Amino acid sequence: MSSLLLVPIPPVEIEHILLLRPALQSTLNIETAIDESIHLDIAAAFDAYRNQYNSSVLLTSLQEHFPHYNGKILGISKVDFFVPVLTYVFGEAQLNGTYAVVSTYRLSDTLYGLPENTQRFIERFRKEAVHELGHTFGLYHCLDYDCVMHSSTTVEDIDIKGDNFCPACGKIVKRHLHARL
Ligand SMILES: [Zn+2]
Ligand SMILES: [Zn+2]
Repeated sequence: MSSLLLVPIPPVEIEHILLLRPALQSTLNIETAIDESIHLDIAAAFDAYRNQYNSSVLLTSLQEHFPHYNGKILGISKVDFFVPVLTYVFGEAQLNGTYAVVSTYRLSDTLYGLPENTQRFIERFRKEAVHELGHTFGLYHCLDYDCVMHSSTTVEDIDIKGDNFCPACGKIVKRHLHARL
């Protein structure tokens, strides 16, 4: 049985995860569950100098909590993520692995001085969650602008790209879902 575990990493809005869940289920055609039982120490990922959270540290923490999970695990938080070489990231994933994390921090229009747009926020959240999970299925960035695996540096980039895999990327995901999970 294909499975995806959604792990809230506080601080996070559970209702955002509840909205994301059916979208992931239909896009990936995968069973999902939410595990609120673990208390991942987000403070360990905090960088006081940058005032941001190192997403690679969170990936490692997920791996420590779920060392032998037979499926995919997506950690979700609303803090601002970074990796050392970049100013910020929307998420990070293990290529062809089990673990991914995604942040909602930069996905809301309110961060850019605009009125809140819940529908747009959820669309961005869904695209970035699917994107990071795509990396766990072994996908690299795709040149197709309509493909969810197209790389996004800004929210405008996220808005422009499609919310699903192009045929070539989708084929790889399907192959993994049938063979590996
Ligand atoms: Zn990516
Ligand atoms: Zn693609």
